[in-house]
Amino acid sequence: MSEQLDILCVGLSCLDIINEVSYYPEEDMDCRFLLDDFAKYGVNTDHVVEVGGCSCPTSCVILSQTTGSRTIIHANAGLPELSVDDFSKVDLTVFDWIHFEGRNVANVVKMIEVVRKHNQKHQDSKSITISVEVEKAKAELDALIPLPDVLFVSKDYAKFKGFSNMAETVEKIQTQAYPGCLVICPWGEAGATMGREGSELVKSPAFPPTKVVDTLGAGDTFNAATIFALSRGYSHSSSITFACRLAGAKVGVQGWEAFR
Ligand code: ADP
Repeated sequence: MSEQLDILCVGLSCLDIINEVSYYPEEDMDCRFLLDDFAKYGVNTDHVVEVGGCSCPTSCVILSQTTGSRTIIHANAGLPELSVDDFSKVDLTVFDWIHFEGRNVANVVKMIEVVRKHNQKHQDSKSITISVEVEKAKAELDALIPLPDVLFVSKDYAKFKGFSNMAETVEKIQTQAYPGCLVICPWGEAGATMGREGSELVKSPAFPPTKVVDTLGAGDTFNAATIFALSRGYSHSSSITFACRLAGAKVGVQGWEAFR
């Protein structure tokens, strides 16, 4: 009869979540998926920079059906950030508005300089509005605050800076922003607030759907809708209300298919 042995295992316990696909995407195919998707929604990709030899950034999202909350696992193995050289190749004269994601800070600072110089050189035509979103809770994004004409400040970044609500965020950030900058802060179920130094704050409530099913991209929807409305000359109040209505409708549906 064998003697009972006690074995101690030392290590990490891990939950495996398995994504089963009919086949693994071939090289460059994930990039094609993205381009096809942009085309489907009518987004022009003429100026997209495609980088060979590295895989496409990928996010795996766990969406709670009970609360609509999301947990994102992101992988980006070696895709280089957009360079100032690549940006400088774009003919800016056709654009009315350029929106920058708050990342790649050193390069984005220089890209914004390129746009400001373009605006100075073309004072006879309508100048390009520059907007930036600071979203992630990262100190390096502070460098972007003083630069754009329109600044989106996320709740995550605001909390990271120690602000506890949207009015406080807009009021405090205004003092560090570009002269005349319109500062906009969406705050989930509380709606959104915007303001420019020297004028009253403008607020909108949120417009919750019957059931919240998917909050992924609520902030992006809000930003896009605000830019759409402001760039078409809607008032501040109409723009922020329109953006909250659209973002509210979005969180009530899965993805964006329902909006096509
Ligand atoms: P994100 O979490 O993507 O950064 P926010 O939570 O700041 O985005 O939400 C952006 C906008 O989306 C809000 O201003 C609001 O109008 C809308 N929104 C987000 N969550 C809800 C919700 N649960 N109900 C209604 N509207 C919402």
